[in-house]
Amino acid sequence: MSTPELNTPEHELFRETVRKFVQEELRPRAREFDAAGRFDTSLYKKMGDLGFLGLRYEPEYGGAGLDWSYSAVLYEELGRADNAGVTMGITVHTDMATPSLAEFGSDELKRAYLAPSIAGEMVSAIAVTEPDAGSDVAGVKTRAVRNGDEWVINGSKIYITNAATADWLCLLAQTDPDAGYGGFSQIIVPTDSPGFRYELLDKIGNLGSDTGQLFFDDVRVPVSNTIGEIGRGFHQQMMQFQDERLVACVTTISSSMHLWEETRRWAEERVLFGKPLSKMQNTQFKMVELYTQLTAAKALIRECVEKRVQGLDATDLITMAKLFCGRVARQVADDCIQFHGGYGYMKESVAGRAFVDSRLVSIGGGSDETMLHYMAKQLGF
Ligand SMILES: Cc1cc2nc3c(=O)[nH]c(=O)nc-3n(C[C@H](O)[C@H](O)[C@H](O)COP(=O)(O)OP(=O)(O)OC[C@H]3O[C@@H](n4cnc5c(N)ncnc54)[C@H](O)[C@@H]3O)c2cc1C
Repeated sequence: MSTPELNTPEHELFRETVRKFVQEELRPRAREFDAAGRFDTSLYKKMGDLGFLGLRYEPEYGGAGLDWSYSAVLYEELGRADNAGVTMGITVHTDMATPSLAEFGSDELKRAYLAPSIAGEMVSAIAVTEPDAGSDVAGVKTRAVRNGDEWVINGSKIYITNAATADWLCLLAQTDPDAGYGGFSQIIVPTDSPGFRYELLDKIGNLGSDTGQLFFDDVRVPVSNTIGEIGRGFHQQMMQFQDERLVACVTTISSSMHLWEETRRWAEERVLFGKPLSKMQNTQFKMVELYTQLTAAKALIRECVEKRVQGLDATDLITMAKLFCGRVARQVADDCIQFHGGYGYMKESVAGRAFVDSRLVSIGGGSDETMLHYMAKQLGF
């Protein structure tokens, strides 16, 4: 199989469009979104008009019908939005809550929820984690009980991105407690359903997106809101996690690269003991080490993207990439905040924000230990 082209003139043209949007619409308002604790949802419509929200989805529903190589370009540029929370909110919508619907949803569901999501008229959220079930996804207890043609849903989800801004949720619920992994289904729940409510949570980082706890109290939705087959939800969610994790790798390493570049600039300007910080060997050696790690992370991501473009299973590679990129991002942030000295500890410093924001990558979307646990099994331990 030939190696797919990831940097054609078409990719670069698309990159320019995304970069312009990031520079004009996101970066100037980055701290405003932090202060509001959420993203301006009217920008979804702009992104929809620019074709950013359904890159890999079918043209029939408004998607661009492209492959992962274009997603990679989009997320490399969004990673430079100077607001990890905003990037997270957008990518939850484009690649964490919608892939199952696009792949397994009925035509009726896709017309009702995917098409408006691609157009930027609706915002989505992915609701998996519960107060007593995070890494152990099979421990999900939010229950959907069938009553005629409706599901009656009771339970709670926690740490859900876009909790306040979402119009609909891709909910993982238990539909048969006796069926093991076959006892879960993915169900679309509109957030204006009676019996649904949320409470916002106060995070330490990723401030530009809203995160909350969700409550379901006899929420009724049609059984036809089930994505794919009843009982296939766990399996479908595991597949959906692959896009989520690869997106996290791309955005994380892109923003780490941005931090590295900003830190270099800082080190060249900051003078101490009569010379720029960048002329000290410690600075140079550490910066080279970080650059090496970032280059390795980018190579790993590229291999994942190539596999996805070729339609090959990339689960093992994405698992290792998620683990590796999270750790690289934390290392870059830790060293870069150090180079900034006291200024790095200020909220206005890009290094200070990255220090807190990057910590999430090793926790969210499957923690480092979840990645290690999976790979230990894959390697036969
Ligand atoms: C800002 C933010 C946004 C989020 N957004 C979403 C969202 O949109 N939708 C959603 O569904 N969830 C979301 N999450 C939840 C996130 O995915 C979970 O927090 C994560 O999966 C970990 O689950 P947990 O918090 O329950 O930790 P736990 O599962 O309780 O883990 C506790 C500790 O045990 C470790 N551990 C796990 N497995 C093993 C093992 N096999 N061996 C040893 N140690 C292990 C973990 O790594 C961790 O250190 C978000 C979280 C945050 C913080």
